[in-house]
Amino acid sequence: MKIIKTRRNTWTNRHDTFTENIKDLYELGNEADLDALNSYNDATRSFLNMIGEAIATQTPLRSLGGGWSWTKIATVHSGVMLDTKPLNTRFTISKASVSDAYTGDPGHLLFAQSGMSVQEIDEFLQERGQSLKTTGASNGQTIAGAISTGVHGSAFDFGAMPEFVVGLHIVVGPTRHVYLERASAPVVSDAFIQNIRAEHILDDDLFNAALVSFGSFGIIHGVMIETEDLFLLETYMQQMPYDDSLKGIMETLDFSNAKLPCGNERPYHFSVLINPYDMGKGVYVTSMYKRAYTKDYKPPVDNAAGIGPGDDAPTFIGLLTDSIPALVPLLVNKVLGASLAVSKLDAQNKPIRELGTVGEIFKNTTLRGRLLSAAVGFPINKANQVIDLMLKANKEIGPFAGLFSFRFVKQSTATLGFTKFAHTCVMELDATYSSGIYNFYSQIWKTLEDNNIPFTFHWGKVNELSPARISNMYGGAATSWKAARNKLLDANSIKVFTNPILQQWGLD
Ligand SMILES: Cc1cc2nc3c(=O)[nH]c(=O)nc-3n(C[C@H](O)[C@H](O)[C@H](O)COP(=O)(O)OP(=O)(O)OC[C@H]3O[C@@H](n4cnc5c(N)ncnc54)[C@H](O)[C@@H]3O)c2cc1C
Repeated sequence: MKIIKTRRNTWTNRHDTFTENIKDLYELGNEADLDALNSYNDATRSFLNMIGEAIATQTPLRSLGGGWSWTKIATVHSGVMLDTKPLNTRFTISKASVSDAYTGDPGHLLFAQSGMSVQEIDEFLQERGQSLKTTGASNGQTIAGAISTGVHGSAFDFGAMPEFVVGLHIVVGPTRHVYLERASAPVVSDAFIQNIRAEHILDDDLFNAALVSFGSFGIIHGVMIETEDLFLLETYMQQMPYDDSLKGIMETLDFSNAKLPCGNERPYHFSVLINPYDMGKGVYVTSMYKRAYTKDYKPPVDNAAGIGPGDDAPTFIGLLTDSIPALVPLLVNKVLGASLAVSKLDAQNKPIRELGTVGEIFKNTTLRGRLLSAAVGFPINKANQVIDLMLKANKEIGPFAGLFSFRFVKQSTATLGFTKFAHTCVMELDATYSSGIYNFYSQIWKTLEDNNIPFTFHWGKVNELSPARISNMYGGAATSWKAARNKLLDANSIKVFTNPILQQWGLD
C-alpha cells in the first residue's frame, strides 16, 4: 500500500467547526502495479503492520472516511489519522465466492473497499443496472464512514445504510484480520475467505456490534453489500397543511387515507420540513415512489439554488447568516422562498413528478458556509408531540435560524444503531455555526428529557452524549457492544482504537 506521511499536525473537519491536534495524517493508496486482489491483500498487510507499529509506539490510530461528521469520531488527539478515501477498489462476486447456504443472488453482491464513496458505488452500480437500497440525502461519505454512524435516508420500509451490509472485513490487531458475518445469514464461501486470507467469524452479536462502531473496532477494510436492480424514484415536494391527516401519517406511517401525489400508495421515502416562521402556508412534504427503471426519463438537473426533493437542509442553511434574533424569521422566509424547489404544477394543478435513480436524487451536496447539524431519533408516535415542543421552545428560547426536518427510518439491526425504535422519526436541526446554536441544542435535549420523550443521538452529528445518556438510550445494548469489542480486539489493539470521544462517552 502507498503510505504518504503528510506530517500534518492538525486536522479540521469538513464543516470547519473544530480542529484537532494530531501526530500525523497518512494518505493511503492502493498499489497500482498489482492486480486488484493482490493490491487489496497488500493493503491488509500494511494495516496489520501499522497496528503493530502503533502498539509499539503507543500511538492511537483512527480511520477517516469523507470527514463529514461533526463529532470528533474520525479523529484522535495526538494520534495518527488514516485517510482511507483513495482505497476505493471493488469486487463483484461470483457463484464460487458464495456459500451454499446463501439464498440471495451473487450478482447482487458487491465487495467494496472501505474508502469507496457512496457516489462511486452509485455510479458503478448504475452502470451494472443496479442500485443501493438506500443512502443518506447526499453521497459524499465513504461506505465505511457511512455505515459506521448508521447513515439513514427516509426509506422507512427498509432502514438505514447498515441494513444492506452482509459482511465486514476488519483488521482488528497486528496479526489478526477477520471477515465477520451473521451466523444466521451466512453469505461467503471458503474460497472467498481464502482469497482475502482472513479469519472467518460467523456471529450475529459481533457482526451487529461492529456495524455501527465509529472506528472503534479496528480498520474496516472491505464491506460486502447487497444491492438491487436499478429503479427510479418518482419524487414530489409539496407544501401541505399540517393537519390531522398529515399528523396521523407521521405518527403511524399508515398511508391508507393519504392525500399525497400518488394517493394512498405507500411511498418509498417520506419526509417533512417545517419552517417555524410560516406554518400558515403549511409544511413541505417530500414523497418518493419506486418505479421500474426505464431509460426514457430526464434526470433531475442540479438544483444549485437550493433544496429539491432529494436535498437536505445543509444546502440552504449556509445561506443564512448568524443574524440578530429579530431578523431571523424574515431571513429564513426570504432564503427559503428562494431555495425550496417545490414541485411545479400542471394545468390540472397536479404536482409534476421528477424522476431519477437513487444516485441522481440523493447526490453530492453543495456545502455552503460553516454549518452545524444535530439529529435525534425517537419513536414515530411522539412525532407531533415533539413538533409542538419545538414550536413552543422556538418562541421561548429561539429563534432558531433554520428548519426542523423529519425523516422516518425502520429499526436498525446494529447494536448501537441510533435508529433503534420500531420506526424511528429522525428530527434534524441544521443551522449556521454559532455558540448560540449549541445553547439552543442543549435546551432542546433537556426539553425532550423533561417531557419523557425517549430519544437517541446521531453519532456523527452534533450531540451531547454522556455515559448516563448512553445508558438511558441503549441500556444493555451498550454493554453488549463493549463486550463484543473486548472479544474481537486484544488489550493493546483496544488502546490503539480508543479516542477521547469514546472515553467521554464511556464506551472505551
Ligand atoms: C452535507 C451532509 C449531509 C448529511 N446527510 C446525512 C443524512 O442524510 N443522513 C445521515 O444519517 N447522516 C448525514 N450526514 C452525516 C454523515 O453522513 C455521517 O456523519 C457519516 O458517518 C459521515 O461519513 P464519512 O465517510 O464522512 O465518515 P467520517 O465522518 O470521516 O467518519 C465517520 C466514522 O467512520 C469511521 N470510519 C471511517 N472509515 C473507516 C474505516 N475504514 N474503518 C473503520 N472506521 C471507519 C471514522 O473513524 C468515524 O468514526 C450528513 C453530513 C453532511 C456533511
